[in-house]
Amino acid sequence: MLQCIVLVNTLVIVMKKLFLLLAAPLFISSNPYEKKKPKKDSLPNIIHIFADDLGYGDLGCFGATDIKTPNIDRLAKEGMKFTSFYSASSVCSPSRAGLLTGRYPQRMGINEVFFPESFTGMPPEEITIAEMLKQRSYATGVVGKWHLGHREQFLPLQQGFDSYFGIPYSNDMESVVYMRNNAVETFTVDQRYTTRTYTEEAIGFIDRNSERPFFLYLAHTMPHVPLYASERFKGTSERGLYGDVIQELDWSVGEVLKKLESEGLLENTLVIFSSDNGPWLVMEDHGGSAGPLREGKQYTFEGGMRVPTLAMWKGKIAPGTVAKALATQMDWFPTIASLTGTELPTDRPIDGKDIAPVLLGTGTRPDDSFLFFSGAELQGYRKGAWKVKKAYEGFEGNKWMKKVAPHDSLLIHLEKDIGEQHNLYRAQKEKAQALFSEMKNAHQKMGPLPESQVVLSADDVSHFTYLKSKK
Ligand code: MG
Repeated sequence: MLQCIVLVNTLVIVMKKLFLLLAAPLFISSNPYEKKKPKKDSLPNIIHIFADDLGYGDLGCFGATDIKTPNIDRLAKEGMKFTSFYSASSVCSPSRAGLLTGRYPQRMGINEVFFPESFTGMPPEEITIAEMLKQRSYATGVVGKWHLGHREQFLPLQQGFDSYFGIPYSNDMESVVYMRNNAVETFTVDQRYTTRTYTEEAIGFIDRNSERPFFLYLAHTMPHVPLYASERFKGTSERGLYGDVIQELDWSVGEVLKKLESEGLLENTLVIFSSDNGPWLVMEDHGGSAGPLREGKQYTFEGGMRVPTLAMWKGKIAPGTVAKALATQMDWFPTIASLTGTELPTDRPIDGKDIAPVLLGTGTRPDDSFLFFSGAELQGYRKGAWKVKKAYEGFEGNKWMKKVAPHDSLLIHLEKDIGEQHNLYRAQKEKAQALFSEMKNAHQKMGPLPESQVVLSADDVSHFTYLKSKK
């Protein structure tokens, strides 16, 4: 049985490599100029800046008045602001798996977050944006939080990235280290300088790759707790340490933009800014704000999964545009494929949709539905302006998760009721039932999903069992 699984796994990996190999010459032969020398401005650079646990109400351009974010606001002013943008999950690891593969994380059994003691990770046979972009010889790098497994076979270098620097999991977990590529660089991490260090690494990456197309995934550790800001930013905001941390992140975005400007790359770079999930509200003033949204991280209410998202591409995205229609973090995978002329994998379902027409102002997203998973359980469904959510028994609360009251089945009109306060389920039961049945169909269409990956293995306590047996 085990041999069989190993064989199947090997086959899948071989097929994945074959796909990447076969897809590459397609482009080279159809565009011989590219083969000789990829022109500096022929393929767009992509920078995806990902904050951790940043809330919908934590940026100036999303209504915050007690935190100043002029550089992030510039992305909205000179680009596009998405107001109904969903993360694939309300927690870290599955959210990141969804972003990098364009697929619901449940397809990979990634339903919970990985820990330093996890021996599991995102399966190597998944195809990431970085691997896809290798068809067109992109330089690819990750700076920051990976959180998709830290055993060597799961690390970024084995998933299409040329380089990696950062803390491989959450900064509140045991054994916080900085890794470089496949090895630990230092066991001593002063988290006051994490944002600054990541920024320097990101600038270095742009500097080294300014003459060729690149993809930089800058996944900040902040503002995930424990919060740290450097001296320069401490005490600068009107929202305590949390606000200071966001203002330092804003500085970081400014540094990246400054670097692009000085290299003459601003017109050829798509800069995306987003968050992996909603604010961690149980952390009180060390967590963010969901603004007008209900609840936060770990929940399938809007506050857990609707994330502040911006995209700027000078000369391509019309300045100051607001995209109100639904879009998701999984959309970047097919969108980046479309913008760079790379082939999408055809051997697996891709859940994201191409939103290049939305960015370029030429069309709409080809679908307006979304599934709200909590772990392996499908709890909600959005279609257009409507959302249904299954009845919930409530949660008592603990130090990790906020207390949430029980609720009946919900039917919400999100365009009129962003805060999910007015349940229309009883008034429009037929509408709700039709949506629940669409939700069920969409779930069934996904086919059988793998078991949840084991994130914490049981301790071997046979020695204690032995000692006990002697008594
Ligand atoms: Mg997070």
